[in-house]
Amino acid sequence: MLKSLPEYEQMAEQAHGHLCAGQILGLRMALYGVKLLGLADPAGADRKRLVTFVEIDRCFTDAIPVVTGCRLGKRSLKVRDFGKVAATFCDLREGRAVRILARESAKERAGELYPDVAGKNQQQMLAYRQMSEEELFRIQWVRVTLGPADLPGYKAPRPLCAQCGEPISFGREVVCDSRTVCRACAGESYYTPL
Ligand SMILES: [Zn+2]
Ligand SMILES: [Zn+2]
Repeated sequence: MLKSLPEYEQMAEQAHGHLCAGQILGLRMALYGVKLLGLADPAGADRKRLVTFVEIDRCFTDAIPVVTGCRLGKRSLKVRDFGKVAATFCDLREGRAVRILARESAKERAGELYPDVAGKNQQQMLAYRQMSEEELFRIQWVRVTLGPADLPGYKAPRPLCAQCGEPISFGREVVCDSRTVCRACAGESYYTPL
């Protein structure tokens, strides 16, 4: 079942290491997302229905799993680093998805609401608890195409990369000059061997 915001704040503080405006914003966003999808128990009974995409790796990102139960290790949390404070909540059962973006204007509004509170983080923590969902967020209903290879429980052969010899799961191999290689060897690598 869904908990109260103060209860989620406690959980977020533990998971993230501190409580900050990003935690409050992420919790409010995730609560709005599951509400729009009509999921009453996202981390429990409805946990197999929900996949969440996040578009930034910041404080805010850590709060999303607290409400949704979606996790990287369960393949139900996906990071697409677009550098935006946004997330898309997908209900697999109903085939519906809603993308929610934090409004830039929410920061200014926090300053207007709490001009006497020192520090932007403190102002925003107070404001983000009480501002309406419409003031905080912009929503967009979207279509997200998720193949079986993107979902929990997917099983596939694990071929070895023809270049580096490492095994590759979930069909992430690519064919390059008629050789089956991993994405790193195909040129997408983020590291250079020393
Ligand atoms: Zn933080
Ligand atoms: Zn390789």
